[in-house]
Amino acid sequence: MMAQYLALKEEAGDCLLFYRMGDFFELFFDDAKVASACLDIALTARGSHGDDKVPMCGVPAHSATGYLARLIKAGHRVAIADQIETPEEAKKRGGSKALVARAIIRVVTAGTLTEEALLDSRSANWCAAIGEAGGEVAIACADISTGVFEVIECGADRASAELARYAPAETIASEASDFADLATALRPKGDFDSARGESRLKSLFGVATLDGFGSLSRAGLAAAGGLVAYLDHTAKGALPFLRPPHVTRTESAMAIDAATRESLELTVSQSGARKGSLLDAVDRTVTGSGARMLGADIAAPLMDRTAIEARLDLVQRFHDDAGLRDMVRGALRAMPDIGRALGRLAAGRGSPRDLGQLRDGLDGAWRLGEKLSGLADRPPLLDALAPQLRGHGELIDLLQRALVPDPPVDADKGGYIAEGYDAALDDLRDTGAGGRRAIARLEAEYRDQTGIATLKIKHNGVLGYHIEVPAKSADKLMAPDSGFTHRQTLAGVVRFNAPELHDLAIKVTQAGAHALTAEAAHLEDLTATALDRREAIAATADALARLDVSAGLAERAAEGGWARPALVDHACFDIVGGRHPVVEAALARAGERFVANDCSLSEDSRLWLVTGPNMGGKSTFLRQNALIAVLAQAGSYVPATRATLGLVDRLFSRVGASDNLARGRSTFMVEMVETAAILAQATPQSFVILDEVGRGTSTYDGLAIAWAVVEAIHEENRCRCLFATHYHELTRLAERCDALTLHHVRAREWKGDLVLLHEVSEGPADRSYGLAVARLAGLPPITIKRARAVLDKLEAGREKTGGLAAGLDDLPLFAAMAEEEPEATDPLRSELETLDIDALSPREALEILYRLKGLASE
Ligand code: ADP
Ligand code: MG
Repeated sequence: MMAQYLALKEEAGDCLLFYRMGDFFELFFDDAKVASACLDIALTARGSHGDDKVPMCGVPAHSATGYLARLIKAGHRVAIADQIETPEEAKKRGGSKALVARAIIRVVTAGTLTEEALLDSRSANWCAAIGEAGGEVAIACADISTGVFEVIECGADRASAELARYAPAETIASEASDFADLATALRPKGDFDSARGESRLKSLFGVATLDGFGSLSRAGLAAAGGLVAYLDHTAKGALPFLRPPHVTRTESAMAIDAATRESLELTVSQSGARKGSLLDAVDRTVTGSGARMLGADIAAPLMDRTAIEARLDLVQRFHDDAGLRDMVRGALRAMPDIGRALGRLAAGRGSPRDLGQLRDGLDGAWRLGEKLSGLADRPPLLDALAPQLRGHGELIDLLQRALVPDPPVDADKGGYIAEGYDAALDDLRDTGAGGRRAIARLEAEYRDQTGIATLKIKHNGVLGYHIEVPAKSADKLMAPDSGFTHRQTLAGVVRFNAPELHDLAIKVTQAGAHALTAEAAHLEDLTATALDRREAIAATADALARLDVSAGLAERAAEGGWARPALVDHACFDIVGGRHPVVEAALARAGERFVANDCSLSEDSRLWLVTGPNMGGKSTFLRQNALIAVLAQAGSYVPATRATLGLVDRLFSRVGASDNLARGRSTFMVEMVETAAILAQATPQSFVILDEVGRGTSTYDGLAIAWAVVEAIHEENRCRCLFATHYHELTRLAERCDALTLHHVRAREWKGDLVLLHEVSEGPADRSYGLAVARLAGLPPITIKRARAVLDKLEAGREKTGGLAAGLDDLPLFAAMAEEEPEATDPLRSELETLDIDALSPREALEILYRLKGLASE
């Protein structure tokens, strides 16, 4: 056995191996140690392997799913080795000692799950692959729980941002890849060969050419091919359902890099949960597939104005007509998740209940489609969606006739095919039922015949049908000519068989077995019929999801008094009464009011410098505007009374390092790396928010860096930018940069207390209110008093010298010196150059020599 185990373990590679033994999956050696620790189950030892005991642990096969879920969540991958023959077959094959043959039937990984119990119904579960060819890069992503398959062609510089948009459960790359550090698993190089990828896709979709999918680049073929090869590997040949790939190029979506996503908390909060994210604050969808689509929309705001307006038109239709909105949402709420039911059926893990879900979902979609087609003034997107809701009439009809109203998850016991669907099956069932009735009659006859009123006919797994009487009455039946045969004597009862009962029992059992076989055959046929239409069904699921997203956004907009954004062709950003949806909701829960703020960026005021006290609302103001851009381009209304903006091609958000300590990295370095990326990538169409950049280092360094970054953005990138800073000195930049304007969050001291108004106003903050904030935070009065004294001294010093930024006004502008290399200065050399040696006394010369030596060792 160990030999078989070790061979399978070799094949499983770095996966944990679940080795089937009877009713358990067992793990051995290091696998057992890992699993027992992760699952908190007992680690035992077995027999001997050489001299050592082998560590082992096991989980019951019938409840393996829950254990699998925990292992996958903890980042493991699990290969399942099951028995592929029965013990009887093994004996027939190789004699009484033969080992039952086992094989790895599936590799369970985070990216390849279809089980309902292991998936979150409201988020997609992506498995991604990175492909490279001839300097190009592409990412292929599949959610095999629904069959969605996407290929994104991007430059090498955007690969990690695109991956971040999907946040895959699993990412694979070639072992020779330049992007190996983005991957969770590396696969053989040959899997990512573009020519092989092409033939793999052709055979998978049964097409002679891939042109129908939009042209795939070599890198796209490599990525898609690598992904399909991996899915094939994990499913051990039973490749799951994949729809034809949807190919996009990165320019079709707003570019948002990983750091920006994290800082804006678009789809997950910084703690990694959905709660607290923008998505969570916006989501009013009523179906799992709608929630998944909304997540995808927010992760990838569009760049195509026509497409955005089409989405907005539909949202507006639902927004303006509350009755229609309620009707649609009510209908959707009642529908099962047909996308995922289809995914399970296609993966060969479908159940009668999944077919029932298809039936009910498609039927619901049909009815909804009827109603929507009858509407007046349909926006174009609705016109495109409505026909996709219908057109499964025959399949619905078939499933309605074939299935009972509530089909079970478990097919083993039968009972899911409806009466009247198959006359032969009905006959078998009648025979079975007739047999059972005849057996009941026989019981009454036997009682009469024997005079034993307590005689019963029972059924169990060992004896089948049998007659049971109390031990004290058994003698009569024991007589040789009684017509009964003794089977078993237990403590209080004795069991018998009889010829008539035997015949009837055979009839009942056979009819039952035949009925089960007949049902299973129907299940297979029905599944095949449904899968023939899988692409059309998947399209219906998408149409339902789009309706859910649109109606949900309309609901959210109505609830919050949001406005439809107006999109224009020039790079402006004009928001009246803007709010931050997450902060607003948090304040509302505490019974507080959010102060709405305007933001107006335009050609001659592209860059806003926002100053003001800590806790004044700077960060909130910056983020709310970035979020408004995301929502608008995702096709949503926005939390504002009015919004007009030109499309944003790239969005960046950076937060100064000290605000970010929780992330526990060398934060100033990270801050600078991320800021460098903005300066390299932001275009005049981009939107950038910089929050206290430069904060992670000493005052002088920080101010200098912030100063230079603002200048560079203003002169070079020329993007729309909001820059929050506590460096009051930066306000001097307003005199030098003509598209830079000053703003501050207002605060007032009232009776010695600081009142934060959270209101954004024009002009610089009059002072920093640091001490007032410190008092607000509960610093002891004695400490505050001391700080006040220190501050007075410092401020007096500043008066004299002109302060931290004294002299900066003479500095030429960034652009003027952008080309110049920084001049190398050598203090030793300059000191030497100024020396007049002839004028020195020997003693002075010696002094100078000491000083120069000191300079050299600095
Ligand atoms: P800053 O970045 O200036 O230190 P924040 O933006 O972090 O300030 O805001 C601090 C707190 O003030 C927030 O957590 C929120 O509770 C409150 N706040 C911010 N903006 C507003 C607003 N516009 N209306 C009401 N409260 C706000
Ligand atoms: Mg802040």
